[in-house]
Amino acid sequence: MNATHISGTGMTSARTRTRLVERLRAEGIKNEELLKIIGLTPRHLFIDEGLSHRAYEDTALPIGMGQTISQPYIVARMTEMLMETGSMNKVLEIGTGCGYQTSILGKVAKTVFTVERIRALHMQARKTLTGIGQHNIQYLFADGFNGWHQYAPFDGIIVTAAPPSIPERLVSQLADGGRMMIPVGSTESSQDLILVQRKGAKIEETFIEKVKFVPLVSGVAR
Ligand code: SAH
Repeated sequence: MNATHISGTGMTSARTRTRLVERLRAEGIKNEELLKIIGLTPRHLFIDEGLSHRAYEDTALPIGMGQTISQPYIVARMTEMLMETGSMNKVLEIGTGCGYQTSILGKVAKTVFTVERIRALHMQARKTLTGIGQHNIQYLFADGFNGWHQYAPFDGIIVTAAPPSIPERLVSQLADGGRMMIPVGSTESSQDLILVQRKGAKIEETFIEKVKFVPLVSGVAR
């Protein structure tokens, strides 16, 4: 992947990206380090070329296999919450998808562990992220309901698909002081984004806002 490809032109240029950052700021995202990273992340490289011209709109877009790339606002909101509530040494992401959220996490966390249940997406995301030079990411093709036991506990967990209720196994992989951002709900139209915090033996849950994610599905798809 060459530099022009990454920096973009026209609808994928720096100017278009600045408009996205301004919009996120207007929507209440305040962390300047994060806003800068979002402005520098080539979102157009995570989606099909035919959709490049829409890459910097603040919307979810299809990535194939019935899945979507998350809306930049929601990626920003979840990442900002994690950054502002504690340490970002080891972060687990459930639902790699195209790897856009993974890319942002890779720039604010020391190491990112990401799990995807659809093999084609898992392979493609690894290729894209390696292609733009991100090397602090570990990839797993597996059912994310199980977390990633081998590397637990995690300082942060971001779940990018919605289970009907908070999976106990993920909570058990949070370090003391660890936080998880997770959309919860059994219908696609109305889910609650929840911040789960482990404080010693105590688990605290805080409602953040209403969201819309694809469902978290059990098992893997080859
Ligand atoms: N993080 C992505 C969002 C991808 S959409 C982004 O930045 O845009 C959610 C992803 O979660 C899909 O790729 C879907 O296949 C995956 N997913 C759903 N259930 C899963 C499970 N049990 N384990 C791992 N990944 C899962």
